[in-house]
Amino acid sequence: MFESLSDRLSGIFDKLTGRGALSENDVNEALREIRRALIEADVALPIVRSFTDKVRNRAVGAEVVKSVTPGQMVVKIVHDQLVEMLGEEAHPIDLNAPAPVAIMMVGLQGSGKTTTTAKLARRLTQRDKRKVLMASLDTRRPAAQEQLKVLGEQNGIDTLPIIEGQGPVEIAKRSMSAAKLGGYDVVMLDTAGRIHIDEPLMKEMADVKAAAQPHEILLVADSLTGQDAVNLAKSFDERVGITGIALTRMDGDGRGGAALSMQAVTGKPVKLIGTGEKSDALEDFHPKRIADRILG
Ligand code: GDP
Repeated sequence: MFESLSDRLSGIFDKLTGRGALSENDVNEALREIRRALIEADVALPIVRSFTDKVRNRAVGAEVVKSVTPGQMVVKIVHDQLVEMLGEEAHPIDLNAPAPVAIMMVGLQGSGKTTTTAKLARRLTQRDKRKVLMASLDTRRPAAQEQLKVLGEQNGIDTLPIIEGQGPVEIAKRSMSAAKLGGYDVVMLDTAGRIHIDEPLMKEMADVKAAAQPHEILLVADSLTGQDAVNLAKSFDERVGITGIALTRMDGDGRGGAALSMQAVTGKPVKLIGTGEKSDALEDFHPKRIADRILG
């Protein structure tokens, strides 16, 4: 599919012989390949630029240790820089708050919000032994509430009974009261999405947040989001204040550059990745693995 960055860089540096330190010229040629690899991996342009600047600073003048080739050395610098920007460790979902802990799922329509809500609810129930209540706050899309109910039934997770005519804020409040009364540990709020970011959507998210006081707000985004990733993450973070990101469709061919873009622009970690349509296709985000994937 793609020629790996390691192969491309070896190609460049194989021409060089007997150097002690990486020169600016060598590094600039390598940076062109790095830039190309990042763009192919769907990393947004402003992030590509800041990333390559950081790599340049680290690489120019760096002594090439004897045991590696200059190409391997630059690949290591790129890899280390990627891991630094993606975060060294996996970031677990934080439930460290008085019960019921609300987790609010936000994102565009079709990003995988409802699926990810059910996946996470299932994991919290089965693996972490929490009592979870799910509620759909999507009152616009016909059948959205029904979709979550069906997923709840399939996975043995309770959903808030549907009351026709209630708005998202009312449903959020009702979820929190029902969870308190029912002794639930976690409430998962699946909010409405739109095709595009717009003001009514953002206002609705802010109102739901104020009503439910969620401890986690996860932005669900398709890993194939390309140049839009920066705008998307920035808008949701500025207006709603996200605590983390869930990247879906990582089972596809994409190389997951959106992870780098969204994390770089918000400073918020990618916490979860979706790796399929089934309810158990959810994994923790491992920065090193994604760094390898972005490098190809
Ligand atoms: P929502 O509109 O954001 O709630 O999106 P949905 O949860 O309804 O998901 C939209 C479509 O994407 C559905 O067909 C899901 O099965 C699919 N989907 C969600 N997450 C993943 C994933 O990680 N991998 C794959 N392959 N499909 C996914």
